[in-house]
Amino acid sequence: GAKAGGRHCAKIFDPNDPLISDESEGISALLNIAIGRNLVSLVYQPIRDSETGELVAAEALMRLNGLNGTPILPSSFIPIAERTGAIHDLGLWAIRTACEEMLAPNKAQLVSVNVSPVQLRAPGFAASVAEILARSGVSGNRLALEITEGLAMELHSYVTASISELRALGVQLWLDDFGTGHAGLSWLRAVDFHTVKIDRSFLHAAETTEGRAMLEDMVTLIRNRGSGILIEGVETEEQGALARDLGIALIQGYHIGRPAPASQFAATDAEKAGQKRRAKRA
Ligand code: C2E
Ligand code: MG
Ligand code: MG
Ligand code: MG
Repeated sequence: GAKAGGRHCAKIFDPNDPLISDESEGISALLNIAIGRNLVSLVYQPIRDSETGELVAAEALMRLNGLNGTPILPSSFIPIAERTGAIHDLGLWAIRTACEEMLAPNKAQLVSVNVSPVQLRAPGFAASVAEILARSGVSGNRLALEITEGLAMELHSYVTASISELRALGVQLWLDDFGTGHAGLSWLRAVDFHTVKIDRSFLHAAETTEGRAMLEDMVTLIRNRGSGILIEGVETEEQGALARDLGIALIQGYHIGRPAPASQFAATDAEKAGQKRRAKRA
């Protein structure tokens, strides 16, 4: 439990937060040394055209290992990083690493990196992104930033300022996990997103008639806003076919491709392209 007024953490943690535990203090300490000690890395998951199967982009997903090598899930460490502020350095590290290991060597034409609304609220975020792009020689239009509508996240003026600065760099703005948060519709109305990613729960629910109707309504809503549409969580051939039938242009999920380190990413994809060519010839 929380140690009220205890040690150095009193300023960082809200002692009334029931989530605070020794475990989260351990993760918090780990996050501070993660970059320097190579405990953090990125894996990339392919995003494909639902019609042609062509690789369109790759999503960067962060991985963290404990000092004993145990993997720690993003769902545990990202909220802690957001609370302690470690997300600022980790988030920029992710953008820099994706530019260096994927975009500069042309392993993918486009990479999407997740950003927390906490990062967008920090003045100077877009300037840091501009510097990373310039240093790695990557043009802004090859980077997409996935914004998850956080719980009750408001469109703070710093957030809208960051968004327009990023847009000026040519960076694509994607709305992640659409349909799950509380702010989704207001974000969709306020920001002109390049692409909206529909949360996988809506695809999985589309097996029923009502679920399918709901997904169709979401597709119409996003299309009417003029944004591109991606659906995540495609786990079966049938789900991929449904996405295509509903006119969802981009698909992502375990059936489409598993997340892999940059070193294995190109090989995996080339292999798939090779398989497809062989299948066509046969
Ligand atoms: P997300 O951005 O919605 O990423 C998709 C998550 O679903 C990933 O989990 C991915 O591995 C998983 N996934 C992919 N395909 C499938 C599928 O077919 N079925 C199922 N059931 N799951 C699938 P992961 O890597 O554990 O990441 C979880 C969340 O953590 C991400 O959700 C994102 O919100 C956050 N996250 C990950 N990396 C970063 C990062 O670098 N920065 C920030 N701010 N957040 C990150
Ligand atoms: Mg994402
Ligand atoms: Mg997502
Ligand atoms: Mg999701």
